[in-house]
Amino acid sequence: DAEVRPLLAAAACRDPRASFARDDAELLVAIVIETLLEAESAQPGSPQLLAWHDLCGALHRGLADAGLPGAKYAGEDVGLARKLLDLFDRWLYALSLQEERPDWVFLRLPRPLDFQQLVPLRRPRADRPEILAGHEEHQRRRDGFRLTDPRMSAREVRSEIDYCIYCHEREKDSCAKGFAEKDSPRYRKNPLGTPLTGCPLEERISEMHTAAREGDFLSALALVCIDNPMAPGTGHRICNDCMKACVYQKQDPVNIPQIETRVLSDVLRIRWGFEIWSLLTRWNPLRFERQHPRPYSGVNVLVVGMGPAGYTLAHHLLNEGFGVVGIDGLKIEPIAEHLIAGPIERIDDAFGAALDERVTSGFGGVSEYGITVRWDKTFLDILHLNLARRTHFRLYGGTRFGGTVTLEDAFDRYGFHHIALAAGAGKPTVIGLKNNLIRGVRKASDFLMALQLTGAFKKGSLASLQVRLPAVVIGGGLTAIDAATELAAYYPIQVEKLLDRHEKLCESAGEEMVFSVLDPEERHIYAEALEHGREVRRERERAAAANDEPDFARLVKAWGGVTIAYRKTLNDSPAYRLNHEEVIKALEEGIAFAEGLSPVEAVPDSHGGVEAVKFTLRGGGEVTLPARTVCVAAGTSPNTTVEKEAPDRFEVDPGHSAFRSFRIENGKLVPAEVTDDLTGAIGFFTSHSSGGRYVSFFGDNHPAYAGSVVKAMASAKDGYPHIARLFAHQLERADGSAQPVWAALTARLDGDLRARVHEIKRLTPTIVEVIVRAPAAARGFQPGQFYRLQDFETLAPEVEGTRLQMEGLALTGAWVDRERGLLSLIVLEMGSS
Ligand SMILES: Cc1cc2nc3c(=O)[nH]c(=O)nc-3n(C[C@H](O)[C@H](O)[C@H](O)COP(=O)(O)OP(=O)(O)OC[C@H]3O[C@@H](n4cnc5c(N)ncnc54)[C@H](O)[C@@H]3O)c2cc1C
Ligand code: SF4
Repeated sequence: DAEVRPLLAAAACRDPRASFARDDAELLVAIVIETLLEAESAQPGSPQLLAWHDLCGALHRGLADAGLPGAKYAGEDVGLARKLLDLFDRWLYALSLQEERPDWVFLRLPRPLDFQQLVPLRRPRADRPEILAGHEEHQRRRDGFRLTDPRMSAREVRSEIDYCIYCHEREKDSCAKGFAEKDSPRYRKNPLGTPLTGCPLEERISEMHTAAREGDFLSALALVCIDNPMAPGTGHRICNDCMKACVYQKQDPVNIPQIETRVLSDVLRIRWGFEIWSLLTRWNPLRFERQHPRPYSGVNVLVVGMGPAGYTLAHHLLNEGFGVVGIDGLKIEPIAEHLIAGPIERIDDAFGAALDERVTSGFGGVSEYGITVRWDKTFLDILHLNLARRTHFRLYGGTRFGGTVTLEDAFDRYGFHHIALAAGAGKPTVIGLKNNLIRGVRKASDFLMALQLTGAFKKGSLASLQVRLPAVVIGGGLTAIDAATELAAYYPIQVEKLLDRHEKLCESAGEEMVFSVLDPEERHIYAEALEHGREVRRERERAAAANDEPDFARLVKAWGGVTIAYRKTLNDSPAYRLNHEEVIKALEEGIAFAEGLSPVEAVPDSHGGVEAVKFTLRGGGEVTLPARTVCVAAGTSPNTTVEKEAPDRFEVDPGHSAFRSFRIENGKLVPAEVTDDLTGAIGFFTSHSSGGRYVSFFGDNHPAYAGSVVKAMASAKDGYPHIARLFAHQLERADGSAQPVWAALTARLDGDLRARVHEIKRLTPTIVEVIVRAPAAARGFQPGQFYRLQDFETLAPEVEGTRLQMEGLALTGAWVDRERGLLSLIVLEMGSS
């Protein structure tokens, strides 16, 4: 109560004395206006008149304190209020025209929406009209990989809440329910062709705003958690489907994601805030269908992939009484025991690290390794901990479905009752670019993954991820936008780190030795990076001396910059249509956008590395952009690798490059239709069944839900009841007595799936044999197969500011002993990590 009261008080705060005392000009003006407005219509003796008297008294005292006594504010003369209001009106209007006006929310007016001009742009080069950039005055300085978006202030969020007109009272809350077409089950589309589905989770947004308006953030969060218990995974800079469908279609919509993230963060930040949210995910008095979890039923589900679809599905299934085992091909970092064992009083004590120092946990799929530091990834740690604390949940990282655990293993060896695939969209589209495998050309998603999962962006990391400028990113989606901003932010960090390490090496071994191990091409690249590192250092020193922020975007531009090249116009690009805010933010960081360029060839230099990209120009002609790094972001399709590895288990739908979807009706699999706006009877099952056991699929794996975090979560929310229906009988009878089933399953999986170092043998001064005990991996070994060897960041010691953590090494298995569950890996010692 003591924690929540200040939030309520802040919402109710309309006391002029408080605002005089706090010297808060904006609040004061707001109170004055409000009081004047109310005084106009006040009846004698009404609270409005009392407030008017209070205000007059406060003004008298304020003037007296300022040495200007004697001004007459006749307390009873409410006619004066009208005159003052008129005066205020004019004064505010004049103020709003000032360039240097204060950043007050009520000086901001909703702007009309022009769908063709959502992004402020300029064309900086007369000779290259296809190149677009942001305005100089909008440029934002970025230094590295701390959270780049501090989000709205409490007052700005309040203003957004006040802007909402609480449509649920009239059942017109299109933000949650979408805009249905007239006489059709489909949704209307906006002028950019995006279906206005509203929130795919149908979160009670308007209701949340109503509670938050009163400062009751706790109730607001409970309302959110009815439909979106995994709310830390959504919100600002993640989703905007709700905003697109807001009733304001001709002017700025209500910024719902900002409000949702604020509601969540305000609760998380109070004492025991994490525990309160965590409790709401399990016990929510407002969720009438079921307020608390069922006991464990002994029915176990294997969930493949721990991205938004997988972790949300795991949550819902646990609440239904299933045991859930999650596996993910990525390394998942262990969680500190004390966080699992005991309650957390203050969230910042548990997860306080800045994003450029945070342990990359591996949990959360693309939210962890694709989405950038525009979004606070601490939310993933919060979600991970919440699941890890559940008794009937177990997560195994470094475990690939199809390799380490096959379909047959899951059903026959381990006895899972159901398999749910939430393995994302891992298959990148390959474009017809000549030389698309030469040095310097890579997939954008590979770059983002390498950057984030190796931790190359961290100061203390040994990971070597090399990029050079100029850089060109090919594509027009949000992956292209993210790859471009992260390239531009990473380059200064890379060269600065290189310079630091170079100087240390020279101290101990001498410069000659350092250069002697490089070939002529490497020497040139190395010298260029060192020179750029010195310029970064000088810029840092300049900024420190001038008490300014360093302007690395200027340097990056001078070194050739980062350009996104797209074959159509910006307005046709998926990034613009789906989330133009991300385009605005990228331009603010100095990224350029080139329209109408179709890539033809990556041009190699004399050493075979890329030096330029040739494009054909829309409207005729050719253009060549210099490029020492090229990232291709041409889209992905659902991950159906498991069918390629072990054919004929699943039917594939070639039209959607995905598993064909089915519903189960009267115990039979029936083909289901796929629509692009989540209407119709969606099928959650693949074609596979064995002995009455089925395989379902979710998130980016599923053609109806592919494309975003919130849709991935919606697939889990919409799909879990279909799995529960298959086991309705067992779930209803569950009383927790099946606990031994769970203990036996997890004991077996612990032994099979957790890899442990068995022995290390140094074969030569630079060759080491690492023998690992990993029975499931040994069992699945096939000649020629690679394993990935890496250590945990959480457990790696830090020495003189460097974390002794290795990058994932791809190693062939030298020999395998299936009976003892051992495999041997041969490691050559080279490079820094
Ligand atoms: C760069 C980038 C930026 C994006 N930005 C946004 C954004 O701002 N907002 C938004 O809503 N969406 C964004 N998206 C899309 C969004 O991230 C995805 O739609 C969402 O993550 C899908 O969730 P998912 O759980 O289905 O799959 P994923 O997040 O892809 O998770 C799948 C998981 O399965 C694991 N896996 C794969 N194969 C196997 C296997 N065989 N065995 C075991 N594990 C396996 C993977 O390691 C991964 O952890 C972005 C995507 C990218 C690439
Ligand atoms: S956010 Fe928009 S659609 Fe939703 S309730 Fe508020 S005004 Fe209405």
